[in-house]
Amino acid sequence: MPAQLLDGRQIAKRMRERLREARDRLATRPVRLVSLEIGQNPAAAVYVRNQRRAAEEVGIDMEVQNLPVGTTEADLMARIDELNGRDDVSGMLVQRPLPPGIDGRHVQMAIAPHKDVEGMHPANMGTILYKEPLLPPCTAAAAQQLIVETGMDLRGAETVVVGHSEIVGKPIAVLLLHHLSTVTVCHIGTRNLIEHTRRADIVVVAVGKPGLVHGDMLKPGACVIDVGINQGADGKIVGDVDFASAEQVAGFLTPVPGGVGPVTVAMLMRNTLRAAGAEV
Ligand code: NAP
Repeated sequence: MPAQLLDGRQIAKRMRERLREARDRLATRPVRLVSLEIGQNPAAAVYVRNQRRAAEEVGIDMEVQNLPVGTTEADLMARIDELNGRDDVSGMLVQRPLPPGIDGRHVQMAIAPHKDVEGMHPANMGTILYKEPLLPPCTAAAAQQLIVETGMDLRGAETVVVGHSEIVGKPIAVLLLHHLSTVTVCHIGTRNLIEHTRRADIVVVAVGKPGLVHGDMLKPGACVIDVGINQGADGKIVGDVDFASAEQVAGFLTPVPGGVGPVTVAMLMRNTLRAAGAEV
């Protein structure tokens, strides 16, 4: 039987409805998300459009600031500093990819932790070691949410996270550990990936390599969360999991697009409301 698809669009829609109610409870309090982008990047344009739509639906004012090509790290820091000091700004994010010469870590550290709605400041990354982080990294929180939506018992579940990046793989592993699942993190140093993925009840793939995980690498019935976003040979967006073969083996599977992506945007909105003081 083919896998049950985890429809990120539907899950995100339900989340946005709940978030709208939380926003309304804040009444006249301003909730403003500022997006900073240097130059114009087609991939970022898609993200900004999706974020803008979600913000509108939830009732968050989204302010998009486009900084000119040639903006230096010092210019960007000055702008972030100004936004850190603006009382009407609840949260901000800096669209990626960043131009050469701007260090992503410097940017993450410059944003005031209470306005860091992407959850990438070391202070927010640190609090994910606690059980209930206020502003968790959005993609990791989205992957966690999708797994929870399956209704699987996570306690003791063998969980394999493929990819150990700071903003995706590592935080996912920590968040899933809180559910008492038994987490293995695989990466470029892993000797035999298939040996790990084949015994996993849950596989989360966050690498950026199309087709890295195939159906024959999965345990029948496994829950497979595909975080990857890659441009396929025909120009279409594909994940890190070979969808056609995985669908025949997995129990649950996220499509790409339409899986982790929309839930990540909803998490960004949730973090923005939390930054504005909403209990959500
Ligand atoms: P990243 O920083 O490039 O990290 C990729 C990770 O994969 C690294 O830890 C790398 O290990 C590991 N890796 C590389 N080749 C591997 C292999 N053959 N086997 C096992 N592990 C391997 O990327 P990222 O920011 O985590 O993003 C990963 C993917 O998720 C990308 O496709 C990105 O576009 C996508 N993404 C999606 C969302 C969303 O909302 N859906 C959000 C963020 C990112 P080493 O560092 O040791 O080389």
